[in-house]
Amino acid sequence: MKYCFIADVHSNLPALEEIISASRKFLIDKYICLGDMVGYGPYPNETVDLIKTLVFTSCGGNHDFAAIGRLEKDDFNKLARQAIEWTESVLTDTSIKYLNTLEPSKKIEDKFEIVHGALTNPLTDYIINKWIAVSNFKLMTTRICFFGHTHIPRIFALNEHNNSPEIIDIKINEKIKLNIDNFRYLINPGSAGQPRDGNPDAAYCVFDTDDCSIIFLRAEYSVHQIQQEMQRLKFPEYLTTRLSLGV
Ligand code: ZN
Repeated sequence: MKYCFIADVHSNLPALEEIISASRKFLIDKYICLGDMVGYGPYPNETVDLIKTLVFTSCGGNHDFAAIGRLEKDDFNKLARQAIEWTESVLTDTSIKYLNTLEPSKKIEDKFEIVHGALTNPLTDYIINKWIAVSNFKLMTTRICFFGHTHIPRIFALNEHNNSPEIIDIKINEKIKLNIDNFRYLINPGSAGQPRDGNPDAAYCVFDTDDCSIIFLRAEYSVHQIQQEMQRLKFPEYLTTRLSLGV
């Protein structure tokens, strides 16, 4: 079974479309979205519509919940809040209805779990280092948990024999074999719609349960196209320029 994980699309429709097209060659069985479908970008309804038809399942992120009033907007920075308020003003009833069905975390087919931010707090916590990862490993009820929220592709592994956490080296397009008999894993595919690892290409990953491997991938899309739409809608300049930089 091949699962494709997509996180933090943030209303970036061109990036999502490019991932769908680029991932076809892997013959994906199921797409899974790790939340933050909306916020930051100019295509919230189109993005929600496409994700709805694409995915096997999704969890919701802090931006999704804030845009439909399920989470306070006070904790967001000014630019993020502006984009959420704009999103709130344009979301259709159909999109709101779908976003309202999302849970912040869930277990999938007893094989792995998904969460937007972290198991310690699904909507607000960021897994940014090995020590925070350890608190999350303790809460896992499966061998693998996929997460998003940081917009940085990452694998944290916990060696269960000596309880020591490590960060696994990731190279784009290279298969990584997982050893689930001895390790637990926390895996972040990176952000589809607003990457922050210095690479502007849309990030995603493919998990193959047949050989228990993971591959991190990038899809080059037209950043210029979405930037033109953001300029037309008078989005804050930094939200527009950061997409070219991948920050
Ligand atoms: Zn996000």
